Amino acid sequence: MPGKGGTFETRSPVDESLIAPVALGTAADIDAAAQAAKSAFPAWAAMAGDRRKAILHKIADLIEERATEIALCECWDTGQAWRFMSKAALRGAENFRYFADLAPSARDGKSLPTRTHWNVTTRVPIGPVGVITPWNTPFMLSTWKIAPALAAGCTVVHKPAEFSPLSARLLAEICHEAGLPPGVLNLVNGFGEGAGRALTEHPDIKAIAFVGESRTGSMIMRQGSETLKRVHFELGGKNPCIVFEDADLDRALDAAIFMIYSLNGERCTSASRLLVQDSIADNFHDMLVMRINRIKVGHPLDPRTEIGPLIHQTHFDKVTDYVAIGKADGATLAAGGARVGDAGWFIRPTLFTDATPNMRIAQEEVFGPFLTSIRFKDDSEALEIANGVVYGLTGYVWTNDMSRALRFSEKLEAGMIWVNSENVRHLPTPFGGVKASGIGRDGGDWSFDFYMETKNTSFALGQHNIQRLGA
Ligand code: NAD
Repeated sequence: MPGKGGTFETRSPVDESLIAPVALGTAADIDAAAQAAKSAFPAWAAMAGDRRKAILHKIADLIEERATEIALCECWDTGQAWRFMSKAALRGAENFRYFADLAPSARDGKSLPTRTHWNVTTRVPIGPVGVITPWNTPFMLSTWKIAPALAAGCTVVHKPAEFSPLSARLLAEICHEAGLPPGVLNLVNGFGEGAGRALTEHPDIKAIAFVGESRTGSMIMRQGSETLKRVHFELGGKNPCIVFEDADLDRALDAAIFMIYSLNGERCTSASRLLVQDSIADNFHDMLVMRINRIKVGHPLDPRTEIGPLIHQTHFDKVTDYVAIGKADGATLAAGGARVGDAGWFIRPTLFTDATPNMRIAQEEVFGPFLTSIRFKDDSEALEIANGVVYGLTGYVWTNDMSRALRFSEKLEAGMIWVNSENVRHLPTPFGGVKASGIGRDGGDWSFDFYMETKNTSFALGQHNIQRLGA
């Protein structure tokens, strides 16, 4: 519902047509949402875990029922292809189910007895939290934050990205229908500088779970410093896919292509740097180019489409600027680089080969269907290149020599590493990055470490001497 801030427009990346006006949240709207979250917190936090579990499962049921509608909405709003978004909506339901089952045990702690004291640790929800999400796969990413927060007993104010604001509204409707009490989940659409900033500065918001660019993370840290916010950051990446000469090259090829061109390459875990061993590089590049040239760019709702339009013109301009930068810096444009059609923000999947590690296209996050390939001679050179960026989110290692895989992974600076695999998520495992790619981990119990405070209560057993001052 529009407040005093009026509205902003969300437009289709396919043809720039208007999809819908969206309420433009202001600092006053954030304040109202934070007050609602604060009022609803005591009752939600005190609710038995079993009841929270039932409500979260109901939310998952309703997401499954409305998965097609959610996916359609996301395809229009983000430009991402149906083949991926139809699965992403269901991942949202899985996130709710997984954390629903953990709700009853979220408070569990330890008993740590000594001779004189019985220590009991418990966990309590931290309070109302802010969730700020980006425009790529918005529904799935917001459930990844909101589900554990609700399971922990926190109340939430969600500020979705301004470029894909629509599906958050569907989640709010679903939560309402599932019986989530009023004030437990509050949605404020708007821009980063307005609503986003106000959320990070609000004194009643105890923590901020943020997914977005690394430089926005720095801003949020500054903005939240006055109120000593706890922060959890999932930020950018320039993730390496390292292919050794002894790898299963057919599987490595499939995974390398999938990990940069699926979801338009607009995914934090995309493998945007290919590090390929010299001895196999020419052959691997030839196979890569042949496959890339067959990738179907098209309307996101066409089930054959593999790459849809980029989210908006500014992002399209950024990606095409990197094509010019790559050429100017002397890398070889081996595939793509060109716009498709003259309406919407479609671009051919792009590959630069023979890049050197310090080129901008080998260092900076492009966040599009844009792959930079770099050659290496041996393991130590591969490691130096792989670690030679500011980011450290994921790494993909391809080799059939498991001792090499172990040695290499141990030294690879990344929060998550897959050996001989594309990115396959298992929800109990920790998700997050090192260096400029993030702070904190999600997944399993790690999520509760963020949304909850750990508290120790120490019961004296009456057997120790207390110092008697003034006696
Ligand atoms: P962004 O940082 O521009 O925006 C993300 C969100 O932050 C939006 O909701 C925006 O409105 C808000 N925001 C912007 N400025 C703010 C401020 N000063 N205070 C508070 N909120 C503010 O990111 P984006 O362009 O929407 O998303 C792309 C980025 O997200 C990429 O860098 C990508 O790697 C990253 N990402 C990371 C992960 C991960 O898990 N590590 C997942 C998805 C996306």
